[in-house]
Amino acid sequence: MRDATHASAASPVWHPYAHLKTQRPAPKVVGGEGPRFTLEGGETLLDATCSWWCMIHGYRHPRLVRAIQRQADTLCHVMLGGLTHDPADRLARELVRITPPGLNHVFFSDSGSVGMEVAMKMAVQYQQLRGRPGKHRMLSLMKAYHGDTAGCMAVCDPEEGMHSLFAGYLPRHHFAPAPTAPFDAKPEVVEADLAALRGVLERHHHQIAALLMEPLLQAAGGLNMTSPHYLAGARELCDEFDVLLVFDEVATGFGRTGRMFAADHADITPDIMVLSKGLTGGYLGHAATLATDRVHDAFVGDSPEHAFMHGPTFMGNPLACAVALESLAVFEEEDYLGRIAELNTVLRHELLDEERLIAHPAVTDVRVLGATAVIEARRAEDLAGVADWAREQGVWLRPIGRWLYTMPAYVTSAQEMRQITEVMKDWFR
Ligand SMILES: *Cc1c(COP(=O)(O)O)cnc(C)c1O
Repeated sequence: MRDATHASAASPVWHPYAHLKTQRPAPKVVGGEGPRFTLEGGETLLDATCSWWCMIHGYRHPRLVRAIQRQADTLCHVMLGGLTHDPADRLARELVRITPPGLNHVFFSDSGSVGMEVAMKMAVQYQQLRGRPGKHRMLSLMKAYHGDTAGCMAVCDPEEGMHSLFAGYLPRHHFAPAPTAPFDAKPEVVEADLAALRGVLERHHHQIAALLMEPLLQAAGGLNMTSPHYLAGARELCDEFDVLLVFDEVATGFGRTGRMFAADHADITPDIMVLSKGLTGGYLGHAATLATDRVHDAFVGDSPEHAFMHGPTFMGNPLACAVALESLAVFEEEDYLGRIAELNTVLRHELLDEERLIAHPAVTDVRVLGATAVIEARRAEDLAGVADWAREQGVWLRPIGRWLYTMPAYVTSAQEMRQITEVMKDWFR
């Protein structure tokens, strides 16, 4: 007989990125409100990460909850193969409206990784349809993170990234050095980064379908920030070498860098752009891969090879589309870009003006961009125990390697933002 008491003691849930031998039982979340979630037993924690950067409206936002309920009453799901529905059509139009000009076509999928897989397949097939089948590899950047599926692992940083174990299993792509010029660097300073990119393109452009990047903010690979001039320079290089430019805005999209999209800082349009995380306000998993007319129109033709052979079961799910539409409406009506600017002011003041923090021997750098801030430690061990310690102060922090960061929900107040930065700074006091 199965032992029910044992089953409840050791849950069959397998947690991500966890060492099964040393992991402790995960705290159980029973609800949430605004930027806080509540644990079994009543403890509440201010979420400095907004659940891997997606819960931009915080928890249990009444308008988002109602949007899902309303849609559930009408139509929970229907396939997008050969059929369509209003929420998908309306969301696609909204995404075309708010993204950089020229991105006029929207392919839905169910997660950021799959959205990137779609982007890469689209780029390869585009080159094939134009009679350039040799251009079937990607050019990615060191420190990149584009997701955990096989195609995405192959374009993550192959050395410092978390997937080096799978090297033998993955296809080989090209990599350029991660940009080193900071966000506010002068164009002359960015030249060295662009020269490195040009070098790889000169050698390998005949094999390269697309250059992929997380524009301005390489997130999971160490919160590396760079300049809008780098994006503009990359755009020019892609045109020069006949390579598509793909922006993975899964993390940077929807305000994280201070503008609606990172591309907006440089006033450029990538050929393909991927959105996920904040797309639905985090309330349901979904993603969108947007393409320009130039990419889309290459798929208009008579041969069987012209069809794009991809179609996730849950693409364009009506519940996800309905909540994404509501998320966008709230974002605009409640001036989230204004709120993000206020959070940025607090982050800069509390972290960048703090000389003792910057001079601390365990701290190598402190960076702020939009509603993102990171304290880079010398070694991961310098952050050992920080999550437990932050929890005692009522804050949920979860560092990545040697990077102690915050990407709060945009409904976080200035006072709550300071509560988070105090905990981050106190760790180094
Ligand atoms: C999180 C993330 C992904 C992967 O998204 P999933 O929904 O977890 O598959 C891809 N790219 C970037 C930049 C991300 O931050």
